[in-house]
Amino acid sequence: MIEAASKPPILVVGGGIGGLTTALALSHKGIPVQVLEQAEEFKEIGAGIQLGPNVFRMFEVLGLTQRMFRWAAFPEGLELRDSITAETIVNMKIDARFYEKYRAPYGVIHRADLLNVILEACRKSNLIKLATSQKVATIDDTGSGVVAKTEAGETYMGAAMVGCDGLWSTVRQHIVGDGKPVVSGHIAYRAVLPTADWPKEYRLPKMIVWCGEKTHLVHYPLRRGELFNLVVVFHSDRYEEGWDTYGDPAELHSRFRDKCEPVRTLLQKVNAWKMWVLCDRPPIKDWTKGRITLLGDAAHPMLQYLAQGGNMAIEDAVCLAEQIEANGKDYEAAFRKYQDLRYLRTARVQLMARVFGEVYHASGVNRELRNKVLAEWTVQGGFDMSWLYGEQPELPRVDNVPMPAPTLLDA
Ligand SMILES: Cc1cc2nc3c(=O)[nH]c(=O)nc-3n(C[C@H](O)[C@H](O)[C@H](O)COP(=O)(O)OP(=O)(O)OC[C@H]3O[C@@H](n4cnc5c(N)ncnc54)[C@H](O)[C@@H]3O)c2cc1C
Repeated sequence: MIEAASKPPILVVGGGIGGLTTALALSHKGIPVQVLEQAEEFKEIGAGIQLGPNVFRMFEVLGLTQRMFRWAAFPEGLELRDSITAETIVNMKIDARFYEKYRAPYGVIHRADLLNVILEACRKSNLIKLATSQKVATIDDTGSGVVAKTEAGETYMGAAMVGCDGLWSTVRQHIVGDGKPVVSGHIAYRAVLPTADWPKEYRLPKMIVWCGEKTHLVHYPLRRGELFNLVVVFHSDRYEEGWDTYGDPAELHSRFRDKCEPVRTLLQKVNAWKMWVLCDRPPIKDWTKGRITLLGDAAHPMLQYLAQGGNMAIEDAVCLAEQIEANGKDYEAAFRKYQDLRYLRTARVQLMARVFGEVYHASGVNRELRNKVLAEWTVQGGFDMSWLYGEQPELPRVDNVPMPAPTLLDA
């Protein structure tokens, strides 16, 4: 544990999933933190997020498991269906054998609930200062510390800085300077409905992915089964930028007009969709410069096809805190070590997410091959996700996370 008294804080730019988890993880090591968030409040968008076994191990390290259990839903499986024929391609169970293999659960949670659990834990720490309406505009590494100036003209001084400011990171432009992210041409529409508004025959306690040509639809229960989350993705070159704005239902329905009747009917259940233009970047290995480093989407933004961007940000935060503790007051050494320990893992997830996007959206022979190969998968045998969900050498070892009961849904 590092002596906290009268030390200058680490400045954490951005108070999303990555930034708040970083603040919490650093506070557990006795390090004071100042979080600077541009928005007027700490807030996540109204949508679900999947939590892999790898992130539940991090919740255990951070003492958050039971609070996550209170809000999450725990599906009994993942089913892939062909959205043209409506046939099931593969049905993978999340059961005792899954738990034996990965020794942690797979859950889904409303983003607001996830952020609130982390935020509440941050608020209980007297080492964390949280500031909203602070959009960091310029940053400077003085050699012995860092200075952040906000758009409104406020100045913050710290011992070091972690840029957790997401896909469009200002901190990244200072230390990497590689311009805009890569626009994938894939668009996501998201919506959350009360479970009572979701058709009874699809009120199933599992994640269902309808894989189509250049499209897919995912739905799963959220918040202990009280809500249903829908994500639709399709290819469109109509947009260059955009997030959290309203989508165009006419475009959506035209992209799905050749899909099977159940998919078209399910899409009609939503009146207002929120839209995101999906972007990533190619992996890099240098996201640290002096006393400034990056974390989460600012460091390694990825497409959502493995449902791991937020999970990776949380792993980053735990790894960073471990390295700062291990390297004492030498932030420059700690940041380099953290980056060196993380870049290949996060690069693999960035690149594999692109591959999974191709698999979900396959057409022609690729689609036929996908259906044939995936039909052979089982979580225990043919398809092994240990590289993603298993223990990582750079993260603290966690032997077992408790297994929650699967979420039950009222018929
Ligand atoms: C459709 C979709 C589905 C997804 N599904 C999953 C999933 O199932 N599982 C998963 O793990 N991940 C998923 N992700 C990815 C996940 O949402 C991101 O990886 C995660 O939100 C990254 O967190 P972050 O804290 O790094 O960045 P962000 O969440 O983008 O947070 C950045 C924060 O920084 C603030 N900020 C920005 N600039 C400044 C500035 N100059 N000064 C101060 N503050 C600033 C922002 O306001 C924001 O609060 C999905 C993404 C999409 C688009």
